[in-house]
Amino acid sequence: MAEITLEDFEKEARSFLDANAERREEEKAFVWGEGADMMGAFEERSRESEERIVGDAKTWRGKKFAAGFGWITGPKKFGGRELPGSFDKAYARLEAQYRTPNESVFGIGLGMVAPTILAHATEEAKEQYLTAMWSADIVGCQLFSEPGAGSDLASLSTKALRDGEEWIITGQKVWTSGAQYSDIGEIICRTNPDLPKHKGLTGFIVDMHAPGIEIRPLRQMTGGASFNEVFFNEVRVPDSHRLGDENNGWNVALTTLMNERASIGGGGSTASNADNPLVVRLIAMVQHFGLNNDPLVRDELAALITGYRVASYNNQRAMAKIRSGQTPGPEMSIAKMALTINQTKLGNFAARVLGPRIQADTGEWGTYSWGSLLLGTPGLRIAGGSDEVMRNIVGERVLGLPKEPGIDSVSPFRDLKISVTQK
Ligand SMILES: Cc1cc2nc3c(=O)[nH]c(=O)nc-3n(C[C@H](O)[C@H](O)[C@H](O)COP(=O)(O)OP(=O)(O)OC[C@H]3O[C@@H](n4cnc5c(N)ncnc54)[C@H](O)[C@@H]3O)c2cc1C
Repeated sequence: MAEITLEDFEKEARSFLDANAERREEEKAFVWGEGADMMGAFEERSRESEERIVGDAKTWRGKKFAAGFGWITGPKKFGGRELPGSFDKAYARLEAQYRTPNESVFGIGLGMVAPTILAHATEEAKEQYLTAMWSADIVGCQLFSEPGAGSDLASLSTKALRDGEEWIITGQKVWTSGAQYSDIGEIICRTNPDLPKHKGLTGFIVDMHAPGIEIRPLRQMTGGASFNEVFFNEVRVPDSHRLGDENNGWNVALTTLMNERASIGGGGSTASNADNPLVVRLIAMVQHFGLNNDPLVRDELAALITGYRVASYNNQRAMAKIRSGQTPGPEMSIAKMALTINQTKLGNFAARVLGPRIQADTGEWGTYSWGSLLLGTPGLRIAGGSDEVMRNIVGERVLGLPKEPGIDSVSPFRDLKISVTQK
């Protein structure tokens, strides 16, 4: 039983929000040609505006945490309130009625790294990092992928060598989102090359400001630079910053990846709903160009909206599982895949409607801006497990299909002799 009723909690939240944020005006129905002409799978921003966004987000989260709304479900010893998830949802619902800074910079740290720290870190590291992360004193990133290890993460080769009570990390990570503004990173390293690949890995928390770390931005085809290469040159990490047991890093990585799939496209994500702002904008565009009576356009639009509806039903099923105390598994892979399939179809459909206007900026409102979405969506198809890898998971774990041959499997055709006869 919670110490406070939901009703009193909501009262408390409302008075905090009234005192610290401005109420949003009534959401106006979307009107073609009005409002910001911006769309995109990723937020494209200059380093200066990024610094401002990170600063504003930190100030807001700090305030929220101090008032008891920063980690509503978290353990009291780390500044949480140990209240049920329904309180967290109630707060989110209320906060959405106010204008507050964009907090997406905390997505990876709080959505994926912090739960892994809570599950696997030493008490010392939990004390050092959890409160600091949830109160936004520090930001976290995920250092998993490498030039030679993405889908096949267990092939990673960044190594950590033990040196007394410390570890020395050397290697390279890639596609690290937000490394440029992060203070800590969750890294998976190879600690025993003689063990089978899934078994010789160990997870650590690294200080992103430590000597020996170099962060280089990567420019995307959308123009932005949200990702980085991160080089580790003999970076020292105390053993107390190890996540879980030595050589048990695969389980640590799985904790993070499960949370990653849940956060992309899953659960309460409104991006999966048929009335999400992109779909609303697409319908308005079809009307604007006078195509709403074209039977082929209507057919395609109906199929698209059906796809979003199905995705939101799948998400409701996952949420129901969570509410009843079960762990959603494949639903999260389906949710992630559905989001990216729907968004890919949506971008392609917009491109067909717009023709050259999506490529050449004519200055016409609501046309060229679709390009950013079209170019950013392939990134979503790869992030957090590519569509192909998700299909394998659904095929094998939901449909019970035979296992897909992996990179290390012996080819079933190894003994097949092919003879070629020349005429
Ligand atoms: C937007 C974005 C954000 C990211 N952020 C981070 C981050 O913060 N931290 C981090 O560590 N990484 C991050 N990544 C990296 C991401 O995790 C990897 O890109 C992803 O795991 C795929 O790995 P890869 O790029 O090496 O591709 P590969 O694994 O080399 O795959 C290449 C192609 O082969 C296909 N393929 C691979 N294996 C199979 C298989 N078994 N069956 C069928 N097809 C297969 C893939 O689907 C893909 O089409 C991010 C990536 C993106 C796009």
